[in-house]
Amino acid sequence: MALFQHPAFDNHEHVAFHQDPVSGLRAIIAVHNTNLGPSLGGCRMYPYATDDEAITDVLRLAKGMTYKAALANLPMGGGKSVIIGNTHTDKSPAMMRAMGAFVESLGGRYIVAEDSGIAVSDVHLMAENTQYAGGLNAKFTYEGEPSDGNPAPSTAYGTFVGLKAAVDFALGKDLSELTVAIQGVGQVGYRLAQHLHNAGATLIIADTYEPAVAKAQREFGAQVVDIKSIHAVECDVFAPCALGASINPDTIDDIKAKVIAGAANNQLLTEELGQVLHDRGITYAPDYVINAAGIIDIHHQQVDSTPDNMKTHIEMIGSTLTQIFELAQAQHLGTNVIANQLAETKFAK
Ligand code: NAD
Repeated sequence: MALFQHPAFDNHEHVAFHQDPVSGLRAIIAVHNTNLGPSLGGCRMYPYATDDEAITDVLRLAKGMTYKAALANLPMGGGKSVIIGNTHTDKSPAMMRAMGAFVESLGGRYIVAEDSGIAVSDVHLMAENTQYAGGLNAKFTYEGEPSDGNPAPSTAYGTFVGLKAAVDFALGKDLSELTVAIQGVGQVGYRLAQHLHNAGATLIIADTYEPAVAKAQREFGAQVVDIKSIHAVECDVFAPCALGASINPDTIDDIKAKVIAGAANNQLLTEELGQVLHDRGITYAPDYVINAAGIIDIHHQQVDSTPDNMKTHIEMIGSTLTQIFELAQAQHLGTNVIANQLAETKFAK
């Protein structure tokens, strides 16, 4: 397998492979770009079927973090790591400590955090062997409450701010006049529903997990629909907050909302769909811009900051999105394309 010719390789600064025979660790760290600062990104553990799958994932995810950090106005670059293995059967404290030593060996060019398959407790084990572990010892939420380290409250608030900016731009209406369809009411979607309910919006929700559905129905008077039809309901805003690729060739023609603004990662199955949304007059808030408050939170927990500074920083998501919407309208381009261009100008040397 050729790395420099790999389809997912995009001028990554540093890609490191490591195996530790004692703990069974097999891991890859990819640092995409550090022009704005050390790279930060989660460590994902997954039983990749092939090395190529693992390399593709780590290269793609690391690059995504560069763009996300740049548009979140963070002094950070993009990086990511993957551990090849089953999180339930292969993971051990020794493996997490070995991963910490691997992170340390990059000398601070990469700061590790949690991601799918890796819990905060695993990052604590890594931190025994590295000073470059983020997302630990969170001190406060953006509301000034003590934090348990869960970034979801920040992510939900940032998504709410971004959704409002999209509504202001596209519809010019108050949230109390709107119906919002939320796909997935988990950690982020539930809290987004709470903000919207408090602002007077009417909610339609769908989730595969019945207790989450019942809770949102009870607390917010939300109308419940089947997971197969949530994207297609009559509403003003569609908020994907579950899995990726909810905007794809099978769903895009059914979407009736004029605004798409939600927290899920990788909402567009392919980048070309951003242009399709633009051409249909649908204002799409690029996922990595609207859901960036989680890493903004991690950053403020690491530096000498305050809840007010963190909240102000999260609220910048709104003005960044407005800038993207205006440029997209002026240039007749998808908002995803404009977001990428803006990010590239920020992290270019
Ligand atoms: P979560 O697992 O807590 O919630 C996801 C919810 O979606 C769950 O309740 C699940 O039952 C539901 N779901 C799964 N499949 C569904 C389907 N087909 N239709 C409707 N609902 C479905 O995850 P989360 O932390 O709330 O994250 C939600 C999304 O936001 C993910 O894409 C995640 O990558 C992204 N995100 C989260 C954060 C964060 O701080 N948690 C930060 C950035 C991005």
